[in-house]
Amino acid sequence: MTPGNLSPIIPLFHDFSIPFLLSTIIPSFHHSIVPLPPVWSLIWTLAVFVFGACIGSFLNVCVYRIPREISVNRPRRSFCPRCQHVIAWYDNIPLLSILLLRGRCRRCGGRISLRYFVVEALVAALFALVWLQYCSPGGPPILGMTSIEDWRLIPIYWLAVAGLTLGTFVDFDFLIIPDRVTLGGIALGLILSAAAPALHRAGIWYQGLLRALLGASVGWGALWLVAQVGRLIFRRDAMGFGDVKLLGAIGAFLGWRAVLFVIMLSSLLGSVVGITLIAAGQKQLRSRIPYGPYLALAAVVWMLWGQGIWRLYLEFVFPPMPLP
Ligand SMILES: [Zn+2]
Repeated sequence: MTPGNLSPIIPLFHDFSIPFLLSTIIPSFHHSIVPLPPVWSLIWTLAVFVFGACIGSFLNVCVYRIPREISVNRPRRSFCPRCQHVIAWYDNIPLLSILLLRGRCRRCGGRISLRYFVVEALVAALFALVWLQYCSPGGPPILGMTSIEDWRLIPIYWLAVAGLTLGTFVDFDFLIIPDRVTLGGIALGLILSAAAPALHRAGIWYQGLLRALLGASVGWGALWLVAQVGRLIFRRDAMGFGDVKLLGAIGAFLGWRAVLFVIMLSSLLGSVVGITLIAAGQKQLRSRIPYGPYLALAAVVWMLWGQGIWRLYLEFVFPPMPLP
C-alpha cells in the first residue's frame, strides 16, 4: 500500500490523536493542530492487527477444546497437548512465542502445530482488513474493498470472522461444524441485524431483521435442497447438515445476495480443490471433504469485496444500454 492510499484515513484518526486530546484539555492548543502524518493510521491498524492476533489465539483454544468437550474457560490457562504442562504467559504471546520457541514446547520439546500461528496471523489480517473498510467513508476504497459507513459493523464483522474461522478449523479436524457456530450464528445474526440494520443496508430495525430472516431462510433452504437432491443421486449424505446450518448463519449476517454468491464461489473452489486432491491420489471420489471452509472463505470474500463483485455481476447481466 502506498502512503497516498492512507490519506482518507487521516481525518478519522484526528479525533483520537494526541493534539486533539491536548486541545480538549488546553483550549488554545486547538488552533495549533497540524495535519496528522499517516503514521497515526498505521498505529491504529497495527493495534487492530495485534487485537486480532489475540482473538486468533483464543480461537485456537476454542478449536481444540469445543469439539473435545473441554470447557473453553476451565482450565483457564493453555496447556501443551502432549505433556499437559501449563504454558507460561511469556510462551503464550500470539504470533511471537511460537517463533521464539521455534515451534516446540519449552518443557517436552514436542512440536507445536504451525496451524496455531496460521490461525493467529489469519484472524489478525482479517481484523485489520475489516478495520480498513471503515477508514474510507465516502473516499476511494482501500484495496478495492467495500467501505463500511456504520462503525457498528466493525465488531459485527469481527464476530463473523471469528465464527467462520472457528467453524472452518473444527470442520477440517472433525468434519463437523459446532452448533454454537451455526445455530448460535443464526440467532446472533438476527439479533445484530435488528441492532444494526446497516448490516443489510436497511434503515429501521425491523427491515434489518426481515432481511436477516430472508437471508437465513434462503441460505438454509437452498443448501437443504442441494442435500436432498444429493441424497437421491448418490444414495448417501453428500452434504453434512452442519453446512446447511452454516449457510443459514451466513445468510442471517450478510443477506440473500451473499448466499447466492457464497453458493457459487464455494462450489467452484470446492470442486477445484476436490478434483485436484482426487487427481493427486490424496482422496477418493467417495471420501468426505469438508465443505464448511469453502463456505466460510466465500463469505469472507463477500464481506470484504461483495459490493464491487455484485456491481460487476449486474453490469454483466444487464449491460448498460449504448446511447443512440
Ligand atoms: Zn509439552
